[in-house]
Amino acid sequence: MSILKIVNCLDPILRQACKEIENIDGELSILSQDMIETMYAAPGAGLAANQVGISSQIIVVDRGIGTEKKDPITIINPKITAMEEEQIGEEGCLSIPEIFAEIKRANRVEMKGIDLDGNEVRLESEGFLARALQHEMDHLEGILFWDKLSQVKRGMLKRKFKKRLREMKGDSK
Ligand SMILES: [Zn+2]
Repeated sequence: MSILKIVNCLDPILRQACKEIENIDGELSILSQDMIETMYAAPGAGLAANQVGISSQIIVVDRGIGTEKKDPITIINPKITAMEEEQIGEEGCLSIPEIFAEIKRANRVEMKGIDLDGNEVRLESEGFLARALQHEMDHLEGILFWDKLSQVKRGMLKRKFKKRLREMKGDSK
């Protein structure tokens, strides 16, 4: 397994819709393992393939979010089949490091997709896991969490992110 490079929000790949996966093969299984390793190393609670430079519909999330236990799941070609209730909570993104904002999401989400064996999977979630699934699903459609905010708020966060990026570059000199 290897830790992959996570692209940041300035990379245009994060603005493109990812392609549906047709062949589930060994390569995909390696990608999934690498994505899981990359997610935990970051550390984060979810990751979409385009965040590691691959424009395909595959996400990994940690079902053990908020607990000590690691419980990763891989979902291929995911679709949200039901959304209920509302939650507002702080959200971040591994492609927009150190930037957080309050985002409104559905509190309960049902998702279906395919697992690495080619079988259909269904996942019921609520709270933070439901938030993570919606966040990763958005990535596959080229959407970033700050797109949910007003233009003014998004502009502020973008400037903050770019400033932070310049500082980080300065740090590594
Ligand atoms: Zn993200």
